[in-house]
Amino acid sequence: MSDPSRPTRIVVDLDRLAFNLRSIRAHVGVPVMGIVKANAYGHGLVPVAAHLQTQGVDALGVAFLEEGIALRRGGITAPILVMGGIFGPQAAQFIAHDLEITVSSVDKLRQVEAAAEALGRKAVIHLKVDTGMERIGVHSYSAGPFIEAAAASQWCVVKGVYSHLACADDPVSPMTALQLERFLEACEHFNRIGAPMPLRHLANSGGVLHFPQTHLDMVRPGIVLYGVLPDPASRPAVAVKPALSLVSQVVYFKVVKAGNPVSYGATWAPAHDTRVVTVPIGYGDGYPRGLSSRGQVLIRGHVYPVVGRICMDQFMVDIGSDSAWNEDEVVLIGAQGDAAIAAESLAQAAGLIPYEVLVGLNERIPREYRQA
Ligand SMILES: *Cc1c(COP(=O)(O)O)cnc(C)c1O
Repeated sequence: MSDPSRPTRIVVDLDRLAFNLRSIRAHVGVPVMGIVKANAYGHGLVPVAAHLQTQGVDALGVAFLEEGIALRRGGITAPILVMGGIFGPQAAQFIAHDLEITVSSVDKLRQVEAAAEALGRKAVIHLKVDTGMERIGVHSYSAGPFIEAAAASQWCVVKGVYSHLACADDPVSPMTALQLERFLEACEHFNRIGAPMPLRHLANSGGVLHFPQTHLDMVRPGIVLYGVLPDPASRPAVAVKPALSLVSQVVYFKVVKAGNPVSYGATWAPAHDTRVVTVPIGYGDGYPRGLSSRGQVLIRGHVYPVVGRICMDQFMVDIGSDSAWNEDEVVLIGAQGDAAIAAESLAQAAGLIPYEVLVGLNERIPREYRQA
């Protein structure tokens, strides 16, 4: 029987994911918390987490309670930190699913303590200190009483203390050094009160790549783990390889006569008669509509332009006077022959950041996992 799933698919190379983890590890020399929020940046939450776990990742990080529960239901046993702000009424669920909690205020600490006491089971927490992101966390300049309250807690085990960098994508931003200084100063409070120093973690991908001083006791890389750089200004200080490819197949071939417009809005028409093929993927799958007449794809090892507007489920490609056949492979992200299209360049063409491109690829696209 033939494969009933769409010929459009995401192919995740698990060996590359493992390579990237090893590469990051070797570079930082401290434990790695692999960030797998947002469906592992589009790569597939549970399969990616399971592979990272077999590769000995030290911990996993997600954004929301639901993502943590999905990992536990998927059989993941590694430590999992939920990095988003907790809502008090959810505290019991965190504890019941053995999820590590981000505690970002004294009030929330009290809510977690109450839930832990009611369950008769200690909560494992990481204290969130705000050093300049102004997102969640106690400001570093008033972290003293927060740290004292947590260290004295009967029902919370303070496993970590962390902060988040706002400008680490930019290797020359002075913000990172300032945030590091504020963070270390806040952490000193553990020493001042004679409490054991928990794991201090600060570095996202930008910190991993550009700021070795931020590596501290653990790092939290997301995008670079998937082999994609956070920003065009990023330095490829760590050797990583993109783990995700997005491929489809030619579903239709025709000749479009000179002057006849292609797709919605009739925004593009060829100057000469040309060959145009249709590819069965669109913005309904997360292929950015901003790539209308701006994107490129690979067919038979050649680069061709997307022409006209991207539709919900299809778009068109001008192959000039070349040949292409129904069912020919079309690469939208990844390599074909000697040519390649990186998520970073696709993001730039669409006016997006690479994160949006990866995370936008939705559940409509089947994912396939390859391993040598
Ligand atoms: C998303 C996130 C990360 C990972 O960010 P990348 O830039 O993808 O490396 C790390 N820490 C926190 C708190 C995050 O929210």
